[in-house]
Amino acid sequence: MVGHSVCRQPGLFPDPQPPRPPLVVAYGLGVDSTALLIGLKERGIRPDLILFADTGGEKPATYAYLPLMQSWLRDVDFPPVITVRYRPRWASYRTLYENCWQNETLPSLAFGRKSCSLKWKRQPQDQYVRSWAPARAAWNAGCKVRKLIGFEAGEEYRRYGDQGNDPAYDYGYPLMDWEWTREICQRVISGAGLPVPPKSACYFCPASKKPELVQLSVDHPQLFQQAVSLEDRYRAGKHWRGAAASTVGLGRRFSWRQFAAEVALPRSPTPSITQGDSLYAETECRPQPKSRRGQLW
Ligand code: SF4
Repeated sequence: MVGHSVCRQPGLFPDPQPPRPPLVVAYGLGVDSTALLIGLKERGIRPDLILFADTGGEKPATYAYLPLMQSWLRDVDFPPVITVRYRPRWASYRTLYENCWQNETLPSLAFGRKSCSLKWKRQPQDQYVRSWAPARAAWNAGCKVRKLIGFEAGEEYRRYGDQGNDPAYDYGYPLMDWEWTREICQRVISGAGLPVPPKSACYFCPASKKPELVQLSVDHPQLFQQAVSLEDRYRAGKHWRGAAASTVGLGRRFSWRQFAAEVALPRSPTPSITQGDSLYAETECRPQPKSRRGQLW
């Protein structure tokens, strides 16, 4: 359920203006979270903060969608998207790609783990909120921040934040409550007069499907080649355990380079590392202890 409940500070004297929990939207610049913002507007619910965690590895069409969305948010009197990015305290990398490159590895999803998302998406958002005045006021008043996440109907298995045991946040999954599937989300976005955004994910994401690899190689052969170069570096690097290992490449059980050769994908002759969008607010994050909590995307 989405709405604004009142948060009361425990004490002897009643608070004449008890604060309401601040409402934060985790925005991914993709279909689901865009539909989430439109759904909130339709219901007269205004978020207090909209955060986009930039890994530096989104596809160009995703970055191109941000100004469109900023314009829509301005029109409906919603706050603008604030872009945050993980910044290591000591290392020199500035993107997830560079992080993997320096460590001769792949995004952790290739190894069945989710730390790439936790580190590059969840952590910078949490870091930003920790120093955000409305959140601090809410916590000081003894209540939690409400965080809305755009997981669509049918993704109930991702609803693990709902346990109520996070001392800082109450999580909400409005698309599930509204029973909005991906198709409905796409219709809602079109109905709001916005173009439907592409799927948001790193261009080298190990969760990419083979048709998406083909599409990437056609639309952005240089990015595809960069992803393959990352895979090559992993396979020649210190973490490589041989072809019998469970992770043989970015496809986990298949190598993107091998797939490209098999289906004769187009090649780019001059790969180079992208830095991604430079318009972001870096948040300085110390390495966090391993979290048992799951991925938020
Ligand atoms: S999109 Fe894929 S590679 Fe990028 S952070 Fe998420 S799981 Fe990791």
